[in-house]
Amino acid sequence: MNFNTKLIHGNRKKDEIGATNTPIYLSNAYAHDSAEKLESILMGNSMGYAYTRISNPTVTAFERRIASIEGGMVATSAASGMSAIYLAITNIVETGDEIIASSGLFGGTYTLMRNLKSFGVSVKFLDSINEETLKENITDNTKLVFAETIGNPKLDILDIDSVSKVCKDNNVILIVDSTVTTPYLIKPLEHGADIVIHSTSKYINGTSNSIGGIIVDGGSNKYSDEKFKNFKDFSKKFGKMAFTAKLRATVGRDLGAALSPVNAFLNLTGIETLSLRMKEHCKNAMAVAEYLSGNKKVVSVNYPKLKGSEYYSLAEKYYERGASGVLTFRLGTKENAFKFVNNLKLISNLTNIGDTKTLVIHPSSTICAGNTEEEKLQMGVYDDLLRMSVGIEDIEDIIADIENALSI
Ligand SMILES: *Cc1c(COP(=O)(O)O)cnc(C)c1O
Repeated sequence: MNFNTKLIHGNRKKDEIGATNTPIYLSNAYAHDSAEKLESILMGNSMGYAYTRISNPTVTAFERRIASIEGGMVATSAASGMSAIYLAITNIVETGDEIIASSGLFGGTYTLMRNLKSFGVSVKFLDSINEETLKENITDNTKLVFAETIGNPKLDILDIDSVSKVCKDNNVILIVDSTVTTPYLIKPLEHGADIVIHSTSKYINGTSNSIGGIIVDGGSNKYSDEKFKNFKDFSKKFGKMAFTAKLRATVGRDLGAALSPVNAFLNLTGIETLSLRMKEHCKNAMAVAEYLSGNKKVVSVNYPKLKGSEYYSLAEKYYERGASGVLTFRLGTKENAFKFVNNLKLISNLTNIGDTKTLVIHPSSTICAGNTEEEKLQMGVYDDLLRMSVGIEDIEDIIADIENALSI
């Protein structure tokens, strides 16, 4: 199957009575005729369902669809993007371990990383994760590297081919958050990432009607290395699938951050139109970036596909189809930025990205308000900066709203 077909049919199970959409199984538990059968399911020795916190048929259908479109071995969903990130990281690290992360990370992930300190896990934030900086900073205790394909809101582009090579050479796990890019724009596993994460709340769901997250496992032999002592038993029994086997048997169960079956259904509906939406998001974002670049009231525009962007060559290398729908721009002062937001009529001021609707936010006073000035600078968040998630409305209407808000 090709990509668009997979979005609709990938890993789809035929429904017994012919339903064309996966039914929503709103049942916490599943009855079995024999004690032996339930024992076998709960021991993981046979397929089947026991309790929805652990697995649910609608949720499984969503996980299978995502695994298919990302080209992963298996996927595990979570109640939110944040819980997916938390689970993926805590599945790997132990006290004394080190993580290398990019300083351009999504604010919530940045704070999560900082808070790992209380578990004795240290995080080195690098302004840029690349071949040279990684080689300089990886130590024997480095267990994982965490980066975003395109950073939100810094919009820096990960040179994933060279970074995954350094991780491979040093037997370090590479986790990539591909929320901004989606598998329509890049499939990180094909570029050597070990684990891919999405906040499915954004482009995967597509219309902002449910919070969710997913962890896609590409399978790896790295876990069999001496260094990953905590994976020893799982690696012996499950080989390349050690990560997911451990995730489901340990931290996944402990945290119990299960995706709701209703949200899985909504995501399954949303994912079918991913390509159509992403194409429009990319086209509209490029048009907005070009419009803003030509407006005298705008000090600067950050969108990787603009010729002047410092990430332009990486954008051309990895993102032929476009650089997603998120861009940032500066208006000189915080007052100008606030005035612009207050003047908008069509575009909503809120904390989200990846909706069909065009959205705007002033990151410094909202999503990054908990970060220090130094951290904000590292993230590329300035007092006069706005982030826009360009939707799929008619471009004339989006630009008219922006033009009007800039003129008054
Ligand atoms: C929104 C977002 C998250 C967090 O996801 P939630 O579903 O809101 O918990 C993580 N990473 C990125 C890049 C995001 O944009």
